[in-house]
Amino acid sequence: MSITAPAPSTTGIRTIEHFIDGAYVAGSSGRFGDVYDPSAGTVAARVELAGHADVERAIASSAHAFVAWSKRSALSRARILVRYRELLDANADRIARAVSSEHGKVIADARASLARGIEVVEFATGIPHLLKGDFSSGVATGVDMHSLRQPIGVVAGITPFNFPEMVPLWMLPVALACGNTFILKPSEKDPSGSLLLAELFVEAGGPPGVFNCVVGDKEAVDTLLHDPRVVALSFVGSTPIAKYVYATASANGKRVQSMGGAKNHAVVMPDADLDATADALMGAAYGSAGERCMALSVVVAVGDATADALVTRLQTRIAKLVVGGSLEKESEMGPLVTGEHKAKVTGYIDSGVAEGATLVVDGRNATVTNHPDGFFVGATLFDHVTTSMKIYEEEIFGPVLVIVRAPSFDEAIAIVDGHEFGNGTAIFTRDGDAAREYATRINVGMVGVNVPIPVPMAFYGFGGFKNSAFGDLNQYGEDGVRFYTKTKTVTTRWPGGIRAGAEFAMPTLK
Ligand code: NAD
Repeated sequence: MSITAPAPSTTGIRTIEHFIDGAYVAGSSGRFGDVYDPSAGTVAARVELAGHADVERAIASSAHAFVAWSKRSALSRARILVRYRELLDANADRIARAVSSEHGKVIADARASLARGIEVVEFATGIPHLLKGDFSSGVATGVDMHSLRQPIGVVAGITPFNFPEMVPLWMLPVALACGNTFILKPSEKDPSGSLLLAELFVEAGGPPGVFNCVVGDKEAVDTLLHDPRVVALSFVGSTPIAKYVYATASANGKRVQSMGGAKNHAVVMPDADLDATADALMGAAYGSAGERCMALSVVVAVGDATADALVTRLQTRIAKLVVGGSLEKESEMGPLVTGEHKAKVTGYIDSGVAEGATLVVDGRNATVTNHPDGFFVGATLFDHVTTSMKIYEEEIFGPVLVIVRAPSFDEAIAIVDGHEFGNGTAIFTRDGDAAREYATRINVGMVGVNVPIPVPMAFYGFGGFKNSAFGDLNQYGEDGVRFYTKTKTVTTRWPGGIRAGAEFAMPTLK
């Protein structure tokens, strides 16, 4: 099936529309948002901000599509996902360019994020196996029992700006494979990559309406939160909105998994390979300009000698970091997503200085010659940061790495566990005992040992602890299958079984 792209607007600026029932459609709200080219610092497109009626149209389409989609065999749904996987791969450059040019992450990073999302599609193609139920023969004389996993209905995903491709792909392959229909509400800041995901699903043979994408803001989210036809919501974004979505969706009787913000700590032990650690920290702190929920934004250096040696190594590496336009091949770090976000990040750097942290490298005045108006902030490094400073307590979501010095391993653990967030963490050490103890004791959902960004593979599951996640089940993996299905248990008495006549006591099987 070929999809007709939306016609260019008469104002000369592209309008990003909804994708509903297998086609791009204009919205009816009359509200629009700006989408920027962060490297140039200019408005690149305007995006429809869905009103109540637009979202209702998507919900009605998904509810209609659910009837047939949920009845198809799991294998036939898996086959569509196999074709979808091939199309995502064939269109990887197109998707990565759309993401990179609206988000500002460098193109190689956009491709790699997409590759991690495609892994979840691959996982979901195994759905016939994942949906297998249990069977117990002879739970009583002539009685068998089995369980079924069934789709739950119309489900929605609400996703953040920092991974317009990967985070929707944490959700939708599993939701669709399980037989649900899916409505994606991506971030209004950079939605084009997300819309391509919906378009390609239809090209892969997905029936119209099975995967709809509405672009918008709070009004769209609130409609999804309140409409009774939407039975489950997966949210990924900042903690205040994650809490709001969790509370509202739960109060409305929906299933909800809601992932929030992070402040990921790297504990560096005195025996760590400091060159390898510094390399790992560079990618984990400054990759995607720090706009990753699994970015390492705090180093807890155990011992002053460790901290001093790390600072020297990081300074040398930061001096060589290539900051530039996101689509330029040689760029290692691109701009931030919007001018507003840039102002927020530089405001945090100001506050760190005001609170007395040592500013080792200042990224506030970064200039990129061929992009003078881009939303660039250079790599920034603070030392001697204390746990009461705002730059330690809050998620900055920019290229700012802070170093906290801890006198001992136990003190390092206490610092990490004392933070409100518990998404990811890593320990750098050559000591197996320390590594094992850290991984066991720490109250954080995803742990790396000499691995800086320990995002679990598709067949595990993604989720943090404390204020980084609300709800019981992780994204994707077997938890994803549990989230997107309801389990039914069937008890069967076969004609040859015991006939006891009418029984008025609670049935007990003999
Ligand atoms: P955000 O919370 O501002 O937005 C996320 C989604 O919620 C978007 O679709 C947005 O349109 C919607 N939204 C925003 N304000 C809303 C409101 N008042 N009511 C209802 N909906 C609203 O987050 P963001 O800035 O797009 O993304 C960055 C955040 O996401 C960071 O905090 C980051 O740590 C977090 N994040 C977390 C994970 C994770 O898995 N834990 C992964 C990626 C990003």
